[in-house]
Amino acid sequence: MARILGPKCRLCRREGVKLYLKGLRCNTVKCAIDRRETVPGQHGGRRSRPTDYGIHLREKQKCKRYYGLGERQFKRTYAEALRLPGNTGENLLVLLERRLDNILHRLGFAASRAAARQMISHGHVTVNGRRCNIASAWLRPGDVVKPYASDRSKRLMVESLKASNREAMPSWLKVTGDEPPEGTVLQNPSREDVSLGIQEQLIVEFASR
Ligand code: SF4
Repeated sequence: MARILGPKCRLCRREGVKLYLKGLRCNTVKCAIDRRETVPGQHGGRRSRPTDYGIHLREKQKCKRYYGLGERQFKRTYAEALRLPGNTGENLLVLLERRLDNILHRLGFAASRAAARQMISHGHVTVNGRRCNIASAWLRPGDVVKPYASDRSKRLMVESLKASNREAMPSWLKVTGDEPPEGTVLQNPSREDVSLGIQEQLIVEFASR
């Protein structure tokens, strides 16, 4: 599984928005984008007019980086979105929201999507009672996410949940119990449930150019 390595705050500065890649730090005064508004790099201070291609590319990169996907995984998700009936852009965002790593983060069980992916690959997560180590798995309504039976798995999720903002929980997910917590997917997310400000039509135009 590809991972985004290297300085994460640079990615937010490049896209000009908070991508929440560093967990709790993103909500503190240490957030780099609040302190430095320039694009990273030697010539980041210069403002040049973006080209049409650049606008489309940035929208695709923003989406990809927010969900922590590599290019190949993103293309695979896009191909599935294209295959499904309905609006391809909306299908893409819904598929990205339904990923297990995203759901774990949005439930508050992990501070960031990267932390969620690590918990999943280290075997700390079960889906419907079975251990699942596939971060890209698409969950369906009725699926139940819980920590694995070990103390360490439970502790990891309980600590993250305590530090999370439960009021920010999307309406399509529900958490019950505290130790261990249990997350349930109530329904498929809709376009309105995507918290990232994004114009998915630009991604579709970029992919079909
Ligand atoms: Fe992005 Fe700020 Fe989090 Fe760094 S701290 S990853 S700039 S949101």
